[in-house]
Amino acid sequence: LEPLYSFMIRARVPAGVSTSEQWIALDDLSDKYGNSTMKLTTRQAFQLHGIIKRNLRQTMQGINDSLLDSIAACGDVNRNVMSTSNEGLSPVVGELADFAKAISDHLLPKTTAYHEIWLNKQLLTKEQKDEEPIYGKTYLPRKFKIAIAVPPYNDTDVFANDIGLIAIVKDDVLLGYNVAVGGGMGKTYGMEETYPRLADVIGFVSKDKALTVIEEIVKVQRDFGNRENRKLARLKYTIDRIGVDAFVSVLEQRLGFELDASKPYEFKSNGDVLGWKKATNGKWFLSLYVEHGRIKDTESYKLKEGLKKVAELHACDFRLTGNQGLVLGNISEKDKKRVQKVLDEYGIGDGSQFTGLRKHAIACVALNTCTMAFAEAERYLPQLIDKLDDILEKYGLSNDDILIRMTGCPNGCGRPFLGEIGLVGRSLGKYNLYLGAGFSGNRLNTLYKEMVDEKQILDLLEPLFKQYSEERNKDEKFGDFVIRKGIISPAKEISVVK
Ligand code: SF4
Repeated sequence: LEPLYSFMIRARVPAGVSTSEQWIALDDLSDKYGNSTMKLTTRQAFQLHGIIKRNLRQTMQGINDSLLDSIAACGDVNRNVMSTSNEGLSPVVGELADFAKAISDHLLPKTTAYHEIWLNKQLLTKEQKDEEPIYGKTYLPRKFKIAIAVPPYNDTDVFANDIGLIAIVKDDVLLGYNVAVGGGMGKTYGMEETYPRLADVIGFVSKDKALTVIEEIVKVQRDFGNRENRKLARLKYTIDRIGVDAFVSVLEQRLGFELDASKPYEFKSNGDVLGWKKATNGKWFLSLYVEHGRIKDTESYKLKEGLKKVAELHACDFRLTGNQGLVLGNISEKDKKRVQKVLDEYGIGDGSQFTGLRKHAIACVALNTCTMAFAEAERYLPQLIDKLDDILEKYGLSNDDILIRMTGCPNGCGRPFLGEIGLVGRSLGKYNLYLGAGFSGNRLNTLYKEMVDEKQILDLLEPLFKQYSEERNKDEKFGDFVIRKGIISPAKEISVVK
């Protein structure tokens, strides 16, 4: 007998925008074939867990029937393209989401293998050929990630991506993007030559030329990326190996034009802005905190059932955020009350009642479903936050927004190296503790202590919280404070090359 293998399936959702019908379909699939939960990921995708092998094809077909798919949700290609999804934050968010979808479509592998394997489509005849005009025969050396953000909200952590696009808006009109290249979170323990890196801003491109620039950056990485060592194959290593100036020079040569000088911008935060917001088109958007993106029911909190009931109203779309949160979007004035009524019935709040620490927490899946994990993250961080919240309350810091991020390994799916407090799993119950990232995703954190358990984490953080409450400057963020006080050396901030 074959062991009962179980799998995770990730559905790609550009800019995280899905319909109520798609939400219902994924919810049903999670009940029918999965573990009756859905994970909203830090890249605005859906993950279904616990799919046993014999149900893989039916699940894939179910996802396909909902007009979503799993193509390029994994692999050495461009992954899910992220974008700010709350239209209540800026009038250009809808246009950005459309562009995220256009990038995603443009960079989608053209292979029909997915359809042959999962959707029972006919095999290609000998005369037919799969052509990959962008990826070529060998695809990319490694995964590739793209995100868009509109200042002052860096809720997609643009600098953590191979390509980060910073929307430049004037008088509510999108002009184009500052282009940042070479970001990436992952590192490997014991390999000092691997590291997290923030993207460098290399210039500005008008929106009509942006897709051309993106394609060319992908092709430069295809041709120059390291194909001998997968650990050193991401664009960040290519750029550090050949130098960012050389990279830009190759890019501009291939483009046949130069990027303009980057435009001024300012990010102020990278969390979600919770609560109701009205967009300029009159539609309402409700941003909800979802603890580590896990949609599930418990005895006392029927989040999954409640959100499905909201979906069944067909009064909104469902937008996954880069912080594992959810925005119920495009709600008319008349439907607003109906949506709120269902949420009230199920006790689903927007999360604004939580402490600033909890509202800004991210945790990856880790144990027990990720095979890379050395330690717990999603199942443990809420309990650690309970204890940290007690300490914060003692020092009057409950309402202070502090970024905390935990992952089960240094692969970095929860972008732990951008947490003002970062905890990265080393072994069961033990973490490396990092401090000092910027609040808006503009600076990485630095290793503070290795291999600490819960007691050590609490013992290390309590005096820092106390000191922060007593000695901080007005509006000073925790990450900036620990640097100003010399508690930790600052990591380099993002570079602007042009
Ligand atoms: Fe990603 Fe590592 Fe977390 Fe697994 S344990 S989800 S690989 S960060």
